[in-house]
Amino acid sequence: MTMTKYVYSFGGNRNEGSASMRNTLGGKGCNLAEMAGLNIPVPPGFTVITDVCTLYYQEGKKLSSEVVAQVKEALIWLEGVRGKKLGDAANPLLVSVRSGARVSMPGMMDTVLNLGLNDQTVEGLAKASNNPRFAWDSYRRFIMMYSDVVLDVHKDNFEHRIEALKAKTGKQSDTEITADEWKVLCGEFKAIVREKLGHDFPQDPMEQLFGGIAAVFNSWETERAIIYRRMNRIPDDWGTAVNVQSMVFGNMGDDCGTGVAFTRDPGTGEPYFYGEYLINAQGEDVVAGIRTPQPITNFQANGTGLQSLEDAMPETFKELLETATRLEQHFKDMQDIEFTIEQRKLYMLQTRNGKRTAMAGIRVALDMVKEGMIDEATALQRINADDLVQLLAPIFDPKEKKAFEKAGKLMTKGLNAGPGAATGRIALSAEEAQEMAQSGPVVLVRLETSPEDLAGMVAAEGILTARGGMTSHAAVVARGMGKPCVCGASTLEIDLAKATVTVGEVCLKAGEDFISIDGSTGEVFAGQLSAHPAEVNQVLVNKIMKAEESETYQRFATIMSWANKVRSMKVRTNADSPHDADVARAFGAEGIGLCRTEHMFFEGDRILAFREMILSKDAAGRKTALAKILPMQRSDFEGIFEAMNGLPVNIRLIDPPLHEFVPHDEKGQEEMAKVLGVSLEEVKHRVEKLHEFNPMMGHRGCRLGITYPEIIRMQMRAICEAAINVAKKGIVALPEVMVPLIGHVKELTYTKGEMLDELALINKENGTDFSCPIGTMIEIPRAALTADQIALEADYFSFGTNDLTQMGFGFSRDDSGSFLPEYVSKKILEDDPFQSLDQQGIGELVRIAAEKGRATKPELKLGVCGEHGGDPRSVKFFHKVGLSYVSCSPYRVPVAILAAAQATLEDK
Ligand code: PEP
Ligand code: MG
Repeated sequence: MTMTKYVYSFGGNRNEGSASMRNTLGGKGCNLAEMAGLNIPVPPGFTVITDVCTLYYQEGKKLSSEVVAQVKEALIWLEGVRGKKLGDAANPLLVSVRSGARVSMPGMMDTVLNLGLNDQTVEGLAKASNNPRFAWDSYRRFIMMYSDVVLDVHKDNFEHRIEALKAKTGKQSDTEITADEWKVLCGEFKAIVREKLGHDFPQDPMEQLFGGIAAVFNSWETERAIIYRRMNRIPDDWGTAVNVQSMVFGNMGDDCGTGVAFTRDPGTGEPYFYGEYLINAQGEDVVAGIRTPQPITNFQANGTGLQSLEDAMPETFKELLETATRLEQHFKDMQDIEFTIEQRKLYMLQTRNGKRTAMAGIRVALDMVKEGMIDEATALQRINADDLVQLLAPIFDPKEKKAFEKAGKLMTKGLNAGPGAATGRIALSAEEAQEMAQSGPVVLVRLETSPEDLAGMVAAEGILTARGGMTSHAAVVARGMGKPCVCGASTLEIDLAKATVTVGEVCLKAGEDFISIDGSTGEVFAGQLSAHPAEVNQVLVNKIMKAEESETYQRFATIMSWANKVRSMKVRTNADSPHDADVARAFGAEGIGLCRTEHMFFEGDRILAFREMILSKDAAGRKTALAKILPMQRSDFEGIFEAMNGLPVNIRLIDPPLHEFVPHDEKGQEEMAKVLGVSLEEVKHRVEKLHEFNPMMGHRGCRLGITYPEIIRMQMRAICEAAINVAKKGIVALPEVMVPLIGHVKELTYTKGEMLDELALINKENGTDFSCPIGTMIEIPRAALTADQIALEADYFSFGTNDLTQMGFGFSRDDSGSFLPEYVSKKILEDDPFQSLDQQGIGELVRIAAEKGRATKPELKLGVCGEHGGDPRSVKFFHKVGLSYVSCSPYRVPVAILAAAQATLEDK
């Protein structure tokens, strides 16, 4: 029988893993092994694999005897290489116990440092290091962390004691607290644990070790980890690995320290080494935002008055920079590293591909192509297609900002931790943010960033903190979510009791007053600033900026041009006004994939003519009303054809149920009575007759044209006459006309007959021989299943995946909000199928229809115009099925373009 290997060693003389074992060892574990393999100084340790997490839960939160045995064996090896023993009173080995899933979940899970300390070993450590202050500082940290993480005694229980001591002794910072003072505090801390739990703080290092391992596994299921996984689509069954690593100490004195660094700026992507560190501290101090850390490089420190690591320890800095550069070259991506300096000796504790903002992601990918590190295809695949939307998000108006500044409303400046402009009322807690977000935009304002704030961060427009650095967990998470974030705005005074946020004279009231943050500059303003179009929009849409003035635009354009070279699928837009068509075209749309004609009936007094048509008693009345609508529709189409000159415009005949248009209020009904010259009672009666119990499955789509052919005849006439008219001005109009909600081929045969008859009339009247493709929506399951027959009548198909999802699942589009969120949270469905296509079911209908349609008509053009056309995962599916194009809303066109290119690349 072969034994499963649950534990892998890294570093020292036994390096069993590598970067290729990410799924088994988790991100942290596999990269520690990879670094050790590159002879980069990594404190040795071992990784308990991710599968053990799953087993742990299967076995009712227990570690199997086999896992326990393998951990013990690895520990003996580790004690050998370090020449120290866990629990040895004279020369104790201390370890850290840290999580590490396949993909990083910054700050979402638990960590214990300094494990192995107890009342005896702390004395041994004091002697061996000749540094009692360090030993007692480490012990108090361990008691705090272990109690918080493993024993469920929250760290607040201890922190106020430290604050009290500082207040009593007049000390400013933790580093001023002496060995004896820490020793007293350790005693107090243990007493607190005894009082809370009724037993002593565990002294047995083995019990501590397995307690720590179990706690890391338990933290896989904390609420914040679950929310984070859901947001980032990380499967629950991946589990986390646990890394047990021998400790190195950043808190042994002023020649020690700890920090985190990025090989490039994670906010902007600029190619500068970037990071933060603290002298005489342990890792958690930097990321938890307790002390605002110092800059690593002189470049960063410039003008801040803070001392850089480059200045404080030039040799160690040089080694750090070299190592970071080597790691970036090795992994060929921007690295986010954690390091500790123990008596000037550098150790690497982690490296991973760094989280970055959309802007930074794009810049880094493009720069790396320029630097010859990666090729264009790799760069395209690196960029998250959804991120492109962020490039189009609003920014504050610089002039208004100046005016605010003059008026004394620039409150303070913090770190520009996550770019973008956010404005909203102030919320001081995650709960408040969630609640207030129901009724308007909110900015979450916190003293320090904490992963527990996740749900509030999701609800808020932006995040502002008084403490913490660029690399604090929440700053990292905010960047990942694309939320504007300003960190470490240290002059901000937050008074939770009074619910106020104050800087100097300016005092804002939480829950009432607005605050505005610019995550690109770090500025914080009192009041509500208005947003301004993003640079890309200023160049392309508003045309108030020249392309060469905006680097952001140029990067955007480069990506689009590379994507255009690669992709095979076309991208169109859903637009029903010349303005939307213009915007979409500027963003790269290659035509209109869906022009919903009914939207055109709502404007101005058109609705009156349209209501007249609906409420008419007979065909003659309808025709009179339609004659009024015809010129309006015709001019709409002329505008759209002009905007899309030379590109196809797919127009759909009227779709929604008629009763959506009728007046339900008395005033509107009286107005219609006048227009129609009938009594109010009569209007009421006709409105009632139009009522439907299930309008989505009622008198809509092609059914309207079958009962009232004069409507589709009017629409056909408006389209064809518009095309003929603009052609006289030299405009190339390429209309395509499609019929919605076909379920049976004969519905199409009938409708098409009417359309072609009208076309023949128009041609005769004008002496023209105009023609255009006539297609159909495929949005009813029966149509998908009989697509071979439907293809005989259709020049093209356009998949209406909104209705196909509605009809395929039987989920009402209008009512699913009351139950679908539960489906997702209870994991019955992975996603809301109206947002991301259900590939197995609804996607299968698409696949069948595409196959059957092309079986009878090989040249049949296939597109999609449901919302899914702008969802990257769905776009990739449509590529696989062989669709010719996707169509989406104007602002998602760039997303679809990149996703289409990625689909082609993934195919290869
Ligand atoms: C669809 O059903 O997917 C579609 C595009 O049409 P609508 O959303 O207008 O019903
Ligand atoms: Mg539809």
